[in-house]
Amino acid sequence: MARVFSGIQPSGELHIGNYLGAVQNWVRLQDQHECIFSIVDLHAITQPYDRAGLAQRTLDMGIGLLAAGIDPARTILFVQSHVAEHSELGWILTTVTPLGELERQTQYKDKSQRLESVPAGLLNYPILQAADVLLYQAGLVPVGEDQLQHLELMREIARRWNARYGDGFFPEPQPLLTRAKRVLGLDGHAKMSKSLGNTIGLLESPEAIWEKLRPAATDPAICNVFTIHQGFSPPDVQEHVAQQCRTAGWGCLDCKRVLADHMIAALTPIRERAARLQADPGGVRAVLRAGAERARAIARRTMAEVRRRMGLLEGAAD
Ligand code: ATP
Ligand code: MG
Repeated sequence: MARVFSGIQPSGELHIGNYLGAVQNWVRLQDQHECIFSIVDLHAITQPYDRAGLAQRTLDMGIGLLAAGIDPARTILFVQSHVAEHSELGWILTTVTPLGELERQTQYKDKSQRLESVPAGLLNYPILQAADVLLYQAGLVPVGEDQLQHLELMREIARRWNARYGDGFFPEPQPLLTRAKRVLGLDGHAKMSKSLGNTIGLLESPEAIWEKLRPAATDPAICNVFTIHQGFSPPDVQEHVAQQCRTAGWGCLDCKRVLADHMIAALTPIRERAARLQADPGGVRAVLRAGAERARAIARRTMAEVRRRMGLLEGAAD
């Protein structure tokens, strides 16, 4: 049974793109696999961020994930910076990563373009991501389409390390996509992204959902609203919507109203669970601490073996 690993940055509010593209899949995968999910705060600091709010955003992401259905009784849920081995393996993997590949990554090109001064951490982001997954020798990585290029590089990094030191020690991780692998933002142009402010939050009130959906951009060619329908509306409704749209039986506003109703129905139980978790931040922190302990136990074993295979002098007894 392949182990599953994936991460999400506490760079803003959990949105329906994250949910339909990745998190919903995480919830399902818990039934079939050993799953490890991380709130990757060390990734979130590669871009300018509000320092005062980071801890709260990290906790809020934990609340959002638990409310969405991540079950800490079956799954390891933890905060990346709580397990120092991520940084250690990240450094080690910089020594087998080709610089040219890093510079070719689309996400790097996009995100660095928006910055006046580009930190090396933004370039090295995919290396830390490789460390996240390889530390647990995970074989499956449920992500959205935007991460496929990073996954490709991750496999290259695993192959290169294996060729020098490991002979198959690190499995080559495979991506798992959902049907809604790329949800566009409300602007209808860029992908929905926490850092672009073009999102509908997973925990948004029914009124806010409608207020944001109503003016959202639509496109007759590739309709983003229909992609979201595919995530929230039952198949017969999707069919009906597609037909009404094709025959111009409905305007976009009718289509959006039906979508809003289905979104609200799907998201209300999640919002209610989140409200209960928000009332018990101590309990959520305890869940994250316990998750970090379980993650650390695996990470330590991997690192001991990595150091041994690389010929580093043995130090602490672990
Ligand atoms: P940021 O803008 O800070 O990069 P983000 O919204 O892209 O935030 P991430 O934390 O980078 O979120 O990604 C978390 C997961 O959500 C990843 O698996 C990513 O592929 C997926 N994801 C993000 N945005 C979308 C989207 N618009 N559609 C589908 N999946 C998405
Ligand atoms: Mg992203």
